[in-house]
Amino acid sequence: MGSSRDKEDAKTEGQRLSEELFFDIKNCWDTVSPEELGETREFAEGYKDFLDKGKTEREFTGLCVDMLKQKGFVEVESLGDGGGKLRAGAKVYQNIKGKSLVCAVIGGRPLEEGMNIVGAHVDSPRIDLKTNPLYEDSGFAFFDTHYYGGIKYYQWTTIPLAMHGTVVRKDGEKFRICVGEDPGDPVFTVTDLLPHLARDQMQKKASEFFDGEDLNILAGSEPFRDEKAKERVKLKLMGLLHEKYGMVEEDFSGAEIEFVPAGKTRDVGLDRSMVGGYGHDDRCCAYAAIRSILALADSPPPEKTLVCLLTDKEEIGSVGNTGIQSRFFENFTAYLCSRTLDHYSDIKLRRCLASSFMLSADVSAAYDPNYDSVYDKKTSSWFGKGMVLTKYTGRGGKYGGSEANAEFCQKVQALLNKNKIRWQFGDIGRVDKGGGGTIALFVAKLGVEVLDCGVPVLSMHSPFEVISKIDLYTTYKGYIAFLREA
Ligand code: MN
Ligand code: MN
Repeated sequence: MGSSRDKEDAKTEGQRLSEELFFDIKNCWDTVSPEELGETREFAEGYKDFLDKGKTEREFTGLCVDMLKQKGFVEVESLGDGGGKLRAGAKVYQNIKGKSLVCAVIGGRPLEEGMNIVGAHVDSPRIDLKTNPLYEDSGFAFFDTHYYGGIKYYQWTTIPLAMHGTVVRKDGEKFRICVGEDPGDPVFTVTDLLPHLARDQMQKKASEFFDGEDLNILAGSEPFRDEKAKERVKLKLMGLLHEKYGMVEEDFSGAEIEFVPAGKTRDVGLDRSMVGGYGHDDRCCAYAAIRSILALADSPPPEKTLVCLLTDKEEIGSVGNTGIQSRFFENFTAYLCSRTLDHYSDIKLRRCLASSFMLSADVSAAYDPNYDSVYDKKTSSWFGKGMVLTKYTGRGGKYGGSEANAEFCQKVQALLNKNKIRWQFGDIGRVDKGGGGTIALFVAKLGVEVLDCGVPVLSMHSPFEVISKIDLYTTYKGYIAFLREA
């Protein structure tokens, strides 16, 4: 066994030169220390538990608010407009209608010098109910649905589904529904055709053999015992809903009821190196983001103001007053300016935004050898190789995406290198094979320097997405380094 010096001497010139000049993206499992390995597993356990409890944007936001309160963050509305200035180290948050969230740790330097922001989205593709959803057909009761986000319809058939929702009753009473997560609960499902009768169906293209309109959720089959009544299976269900929640049919029309895969997040693989579950996009980045600001909240006050931003509606274009295209983030920043600067002005707010740095924390499409033809191996992201930096998004000629500036990319790369955080590239796939976007372009509009980065995912937007535990942990460490040092 030779010393490392001997090994160095034994290298050829070409070997030495390629080590010096080539970018060698190593596998994190090869270099992780025993302590970090323990932390990686522990972090994944915390995440799994969180994901099981936070399956909708409202549930996830609620859990994050609880964590912020525990760490001493104060809701800005409770502070009002008067009172003293927010000093360095102050911890504040704003809950945007229970679906989005912004929080900050105030830094020592004036806000005009910019903030360090990590932003993710907390909505995930799912099946929503229509406004008049409950109907009866041939002895069955079904819920009629309209899917949310980009899904492959057929993946959502023949799996157990759970019902999560928020309903405001006719009398103004608001309540939450969750059926299908407790082991004793019933679940729901969308049926599919048996292979024996699927000859015609199997000839169709995948985009056609199951129709979005046919995502009808099986909800019941037992009729109300009164042969004189109409729609007796539907009536029986309506009766159960009324008994439990005081609901009448009209209450469905404004309700937010979401069907998501039922059951818990699981370890994947004999080696337990991966996590499988619903909603990794983008809750794995959202969890890493909120944990990263919490990890810094107890330290001495930061130099720059740190922000974590969790937003709704990314999967349908960041629209609505809880999506990032609305002005909730600008409003929050204006509030911070007004409570920290001597004289608030709009130009100071604009300056603050234009000098800020942000990681748009979102998942990337991991290279999948089973579908090699759509990936470009040279620029794909890989399981086990750490945090993914995605310089640009968009489709066909980078259209509709966001592209980070070279200077900012280098800044992020340098700070990750300095902190020994493994990172890799991650373009979504081969040119003209498709594409995607994130919240980055909408924040970039404000002048913020933005770079997309996050965790590589397999089977994205499916009911059972898979990530690597070490990528999740590496990304969390990367967000901490960015917030602290950018
Ligand atoms: Mn996403
Ligand atoms: Mn997505």
